[in-house]
Amino acid sequence: MTDVITVPVVPRVPVRGGGEFPVHRIYCVGRNYAEHAAEMGHDARESPFFFMKPADAVLPVRAGATGFMDYPGLTNDLHHEVELVVAIGDAAAGNGRDVAEEDAPRLIFGYAVGLDMTRRDLQAAAKKAGRPWSIAKGFDQSAPIGEIHRIEETGELGAGAITLDVDGTPRQKGDLSDLIWNVRETIAWLSRAWMLKPGDLIFTGTPAGVAAVGRGQTLTGRIAGLGELVVRLR
Ligand code: MN
Repeated sequence: MTDVITVPVVPRVPVRGGGEFPVHRIYCVGRNYAEHAAEMGHDARESPFFFMKPADAVLPVRAGATGFMDYPGLTNDLHHEVELVVAIGDAAAGNGRDVAEEDAPRLIFGYAVGLDMTRRDLQAAAKKAGRPWSIAKGFDQSAPIGEIHRIEETGELGAGAITLDVDGTPRQKGDLSDLIWNVRETIAWLSRAWMLKPGDLIFTGTPAGVAAVGRGQTLTGRIAGLGELVVRLR
């Protein structure tokens, strides 16, 4: 059969040392650090919950470069959320369902620093009205991401500082060891709800300190062992 429109471009993220990672889906974990859950008005441990962004919401930024994000429409309260991103590799092909926690590391291709950019005012309105978060979370360029580091080079990440500065001023600070649901648990949970596949990205949640950013400001996200991600709003 012949395609009746031009085949959409597959979004890709650069991999440290060479190559590119084609993106299949973007899964995100909500409220996965206790202090951030508290700042959003929640205190009890709850089952993990997930939302998604379209694959082409990625804004890939090479190491040493600055990515430019257009300030999105419909909001006056764009928030930054720095997050560890887990990239799922070929090992997930055909067996990404009902993954046991001990098997989860095998599915990991690598890790990156990411930003779950959020139209917080629209999210608050959606929460209040019991409506979906898509417009608050899944907009174009809402997922800036740095180079993916292969797990062979980083080892399995379970601890390490995760921070975000805005124009050089510290805003967010946490440690990967503070994740409420760690990466193994997150992969296991996700794989019960969807079949994980090569090309999936998982944004694992953000530490406390989320706040608004405006045009002209520069965000620098860092995770120990993964370098930094620099994005400027325009
Ligand atoms: Mn988030």
